[in-house]
Amino acid sequence: MSNQLEAEKRNHRKLGQELELFTSLEEAPGMPFFLPNGMVVRNELENLWRKKHQKAGYQEIKTPIMMKQELWEQSGHWDHYHENMYFSNVDEQKYAIKPMNCPGALLIFNSKRRSYRELPIRFAELGLVHRHELSGSLNGLLRVRSFTQDDAHLFVREDQIESEIDKVLTLVDEFYSHFGFVYKVELSTRPEEYMGSEEIWDQAELALETVLKDKNINYQLNPGDGAFYGPKIDFHILDSLGRSWQCGTVQLDFQMPQKFNCAYVGEDNKPHCPVMIHRAIYGSVERFMAILIEHFAGEFPLWLSPVQAKIVPISDSHSDYANDMKSQLEAAGIRVEVDFRTEKMGLKIREAEKQKIPYMLVIGDQEVANQSVALRKRKEGNLGVMSISETIDRFRNEINRGK
Ligand code: ZN
Repeated sequence: MSNQLEAEKRNHRKLGQELELFTSLEEAPGMPFFLPNGMVVRNELENLWRKKHQKAGYQEIKTPIMMKQELWEQSGHWDHYHENMYFSNVDEQKYAIKPMNCPGALLIFNSKRRSYRELPIRFAELGLVHRHELSGSLNGLLRVRSFTQDDAHLFVREDQIESEIDKVLTLVDEFYSHFGFVYKVELSTRPEEYMGSEEIWDQAELALETVLKDKNINYQLNPGDGAFYGPKIDFHILDSLGRSWQCGTVQLDFQMPQKFNCAYVGEDNKPHCPVMIHRAIYGSVERFMAILIEHFAGEFPLWLSPVQAKIVPISDSHSDYANDMKSQLEAAGIRVEVDFRTEKMGLKIREAEKQKIPYMLVIGDQEVANQSVALRKRKEGNLGVMSISETIDRFRNEINRGK
């Protein structure tokens, strides 16, 4: 099959409808509605994210979606970004819907006195942001007006910059390897319009370059493509069709903490301004889901599948046993459905395969008599007869390998 045809078959908007993952409605253009199946995938991605970030020493925060306009004037977003922002009024005061999570994290950093001993502080936030995109450019989950960044803001001392960037790059690698993605790295430097001094920019660019070189990471240089507040490293993952998608980013920022008068008490007992690292790994949860849907052609690995197993009783007389099996699987934490319809078994199996359900558990007289199940795997066919406990063990092992 040509790549063009294969790409059409994998289109995430088409699969999103067919597999009932998400939908786009006229009532909120560019702001996806997540359906129950899509929420399962999304929650698994967020659970993995929480688990890995807790282990890496991050603390999770949540900041408001709407904050006063003055805050965005202070942060520089008003000057550099207001065409893409949404505004509102509350009690005759001007508010903005956040397009980025940084200012919220800065306010939390400033909410108490900080000591050099506490640094680095790593605040992680699954932050819902809204950005105005032209209606013609909207595309399913890939190009949207509201999305959740898997954001984090790290507050570090100058002597911690390189070791923290190093750790971020290790975490990024851990995530992409988890899904089997190969990725490319790009380093973007000072743009024409920038905040801060040339000297600080040179220092920041050198820090990023040094870590990339120390870790032997091949990268492409993009001169002039950095953010207005600092240089950045971007990550582009390659999917199963060889297409490249920009996902993660790491940005070094000497400006924003100064604009917000951030300070920690140093070893010398004097106030010092921390350096901030902005970073995201999925990029946005929605966009990453779109990429996964197309990468796997909707055939998610077991741990991500909305429905992990379908029980297919051959006739009505097997319904009680099917229900009993469903309860046992559910008690073991497996997401399972029963097809009770009085259709032919062949049709039920074909439909379960079309819904991309990884396993089918077929039940007939013999299985009821032996308290067993005939197991089938999507695309692989018959795996033979096994007991319920063997089936549960098999599922659990495969799910745990994925998580
Ligand atoms: Zn940020």
